[in-house]
Amino acid sequence: MSKGKLIIVTAPSGAGKSTIIHHVMQTHPNLHFSVSCTTRAPRKNEIDGQDYFFLNDSQFNKKVDAGEFIEHACVHENNYGTLKSELMNFIDDGKNVLLDIDVQGANQLRNILNDEMKAIATFVYIAPPSIEALEERLRARGTETEDVIQTRLANAKSELDEKDKFDIIIMNHKLSKAIEEFTAIVDAP
Ligand code: 5GP
Repeated sequence: MSKGKLIIVTAPSGAGKSTIIHHVMQTHPNLHFSVSCTTRAPRKNEIDGQDYFFLNDSQFNKKVDAGEFIEHACVHENNYGTLKSELMNFIDDGKNVLLDIDVQGANQLRNILNDEMKAIATFVYIAPPSIEALEERLRARGTETEDVIQTRLANAKSELDEKDKFDIIIMNHKLSKAIEEFTAIVDAP
């Protein structure tokens, strides 16, 4: 059986990534969303084991020590990590796997994936039309405190400088167009 594809999606907070991913997951039931571990507190409506595996610091560190993560990083002052178990079994079964990770995680993966894995991987960057648009979306979302918004905006500025390292950049000027572009990547042979 041929291996599935690995689609790595990165975007600054508020670029519309979650909305795009959510839409594509609904239209592609066979796509596997890699559920990451995080030490961040769950937001309202987030489900443990579905959005993230929510862990405390000691649970997270145990997984680091046990080598359970293919990559992990501290993002906006919380730890996030991709479990090896969320990737390899699915890829080997021919399933396409979607990874939602930050620029640090994407950089780590670029460095550690072997040639066989690189051949099935596509690194996608979803960019907001501008920093102002990003700020507007972050505020409209209403899920973060002012401090968190400021941290995320500061990080977004440095993350945007990294976008040229990605295979494909999607500019999210218009959500329907961005969804269409992302769907085309998932459906590509
Ligand atoms: P949020 O807290 O808004 O869900 O996610 C914050 C950031 O952490 C996003 O950029 C998201 O892509 C990133 N992230 C989520 N899971 C992982 C992961 O497993 N590894 C890394 N490196 N980043 C992650």
